[in-house]
Amino acid sequence: MKVLVIDDSKPIFMMVSQMLKELGHEAIWAENGQDGFEKVTANSDLELVLLDWNMPVMDGLEFLKKNGAESFCKAPIVMMTTENKPEKIQEALKNGAIDYIMKPFTADILENKIEMVCD
Ligand SMILES: [Mg+2]
Repeated sequence: MKVLVIDDSKPIFMMVSQMLKELGHEAIWAENGQDGFEKVTANSDLELVLLDWNMPVMDGLEFLKKNGAESFCKAPIVMMTTENKPEKIQEALKNGAIDYIMKPFTADILENKIEMVCD
């Protein structure tokens, strides 16, 4: 399946992209929430979005809020976060993220998460 990775760090994208490839998926990259919005709009066949929290231009929470208002993204959105504060995670879930994954994660953790959120 096609997965959009929204993260301002290219090394993180490269790492996640490699994991996804090994799991049989295709990754495309957006470097911030605004770019992510454009990529979602241009790729109607996306089946999953992995979303970073801290990014310039439009951060992950702003992306979730924009999608909450406009419903442009039909794919499930999983927050990738270094934030382990429960209230931050709750805020992401309250704003439309289906789940979250703590950075750094392994391919096994990513695979389990994909199985949980995608049917
Ligand atoms: Mg970041």
